[in-house]
Amino acid sequence: MIIGIHMSDKQELQNEINNASTRFSSVIDAAFDGIITMDDKQRIQLFNHASENIFGYSANEIIGKSITKLMQKKFRSSHSNYIKQFADSDIQSRDMLSRVMIMAVKKDKSEFPVEITISKISINGKIEFTAIIRDISNRIAFIEKLQHQVNTDNLTGLYNRNYFDTQIKDIYHQYKRFGHSFCVLMLDLDKFKVVNDTYGHLIGDKVLQEFAKKAQEVLREVDLLVRFGGEEFIALLPNTQLEAAKDVANRIRNCISQQMVLSQNHEPVTFTVSIGVAEIATDDDTESIVKRADEGLYRAKKSGRNRVSD
Ligand code: GH3
Ligand code: MG
Ligand code: MG
Repeated sequence: MIIGIHMSDKQELQNEINNASTRFSSVIDAAFDGIITMDDKQRIQLFNHASENIFGYSANEIIGKSITKLMQKKFRSSHSNYIKQFADSDIQSRDMLSRVMIMAVKKDKSEFPVEITISKISINGKIEFTAIIRDISNRIAFIEKLQHQVNTDNLTGLYNRNYFDTQIKDIYHQYKRFGHSFCVLMLDLDKFKVVNDTYGHLIGDKVLQEFAKKAQEVLREVDLLVRFGGEEFIALLPNTQLEAAKDVANRIRNCISQQMVLSQNHEPVTFTVSIGVAEIATDDDTESIVKRADEGLYRAKKSGRNRVSD
């Protein structure tokens, strides 16, 4: 009788263990995130379904292999140290050690950004580690797309004023540190309202696009041309002195004086540009040089348009 009670208790306990194990496996395998456990020698012990999808390895082929197979080469050598420090630290088991974005490597060797949470657990005196891995490629791609939109002008595909503001700060910093001179061109299409009024807004848009394209062809790769707004553009010319910048401005002016855009009736649409030029001076800051280029533009307009400031 007594033995019978013990047997049924034991059976119940076994059932509970089985249930817990089944529950554990289903949760792990239904998880959206990759869940990988490894022993203190960095050998993979558990590799859930999501990990198989994320990395392209089957659990069978990767279990027992080193976790470093899933990492970029440059992180492999330092990883065991990192794990050892974590194992020796006071951080409790299951505490999160780090939540950082790094690149992981798939079976086909392609790399992708992941967010990893690591925790440790002690089983029978032996430490095991669990990594929860989330593929964040979509999130990163979305952020990059937003960043691109924030810095770009839709119509011309050029960078915009926002981007210009960050770049002029950089180049000004270089000037202050190393004395590398630079110039700013402020460009404004002449009587553009007339172009719109005569040919319509769509042809006006085409003129803006064509202007952007031609001006970029004249500029060097290191130069930056942005659409400042409306029919106004600004260019940043690193390592350039005033006379050279004026030459560049005149080349842009000449280049666009040839007809490039056709109206709806296939007539050539002519347009011109006025350009103010300023070179960085010792008492300048990033705003005053732009202001001086703008004043140059104003003078160029006043003295008849289709010209470069003196
Ligand atoms: P100015 O020689 O003095 O610069 O004369 P302007 O006519 O070029 O200058 P104004 O500032 O009077 O007019 C600028 C025009 O540019 C008015 C505006 O409708 C037009 N414009 C601004 N942005 C766009 C655009 O994205 N597309 C088109 N088609 N026109 C635009
Ligand atoms: Mg104008
Ligand atoms: Mg204008």
